[in-house]
Amino acid sequence: MLVTGEEAPEYRRALAEQMAVGRAILTGLGYAGTHLALIEARDARDLAALDFALRSAPAQGVKTAAGFAVQAGKRDTLELAIDHLAAQAPQARDEITLPAAGAPFGSLVVDTAKCTLCLSCVGACPESALADNPDLPQLRFIEKNCVQCGLCAGTCPEQAITLQPRLWLADGGRARKTARVLAQAEPYRCIRCSKPFGTLQAVEAMIGRLGAHPAFQGAAAERLRMCGDCRVIDIHTNPAEVRITDL
Ligand code: SF4
Ligand code: SF4
Repeated sequence: MLVTGEEAPEYRRALAEQMAVGRAILTGLGYAGTHLALIEARDARDLAALDFALRSAPAQGVKTAAGFAVQAGKRDTLELAIDHLAAQAPQARDEITLPAAGAPFGSLVVDTAKCTLCLSCVGACPESALADNPDLPQLRFIEKNCVQCGLCAGTCPEQAITLQPRLWLADGGRARKTARVLAQAEPYRCIRCSKPFGTLQAVEAMIGRLGAHPAFQGAAAERLRMCGDCRVIDIHTNPAEVRITDL
């Protein structure tokens, strides 16, 4: 790719980052040579710089040309290209570490000792890479969808998320397309009706934050260990509760 001195520095930096990612993938898959390079030239008439670049040795390509059509979504086309490159790779790899700057793929490492399964990160994720499990307290992740934007890490109140830029190719590339569990916990059961609600960590965190509140003092402190329904029932059936009509 040709860049001249007239290009904005931010544009040149973004191009350089994206090429570094592309090179990491191609080199990691065993393709020899330099496939991507920035040709720095004063302007389009800088023939010396262009000549030098054109004399570079060709890089190693795939044995069979790709047969897929370009998709409407750029990322869908990128996925097909990655699959094609990986299928013909001179060197099979399960994982390729990518540069942190500009990496479009990657995993998350969740510190399960800190994670309370509050699921704030699920709401923050714009790519549906993170999801809950409607039946169990779990945080699930589909690596293929993750664009490494970092919104989840910035949202997590426990600072439990670390980004891990990489291209994961285990199980023929199927592993990164399948949901896996990053964090899970035993459900916490309401002390009144035994219905599961939240997790032990989430309830303990809530008690830590609300335990000093005047509404949860004395016997009322037990309400923090009750599900939402039982909390309401306890407030309305407790004869010791102060009512508005008593004031
Ligand atoms: S990783 Fe952070 S935001 Fe996500 S569920 Fe765990 S504590 Fe909540
Ligand atoms: S880094 Fe971005 S895309 Fe990936 S899981 Fe977090 S919020 Fe979703």
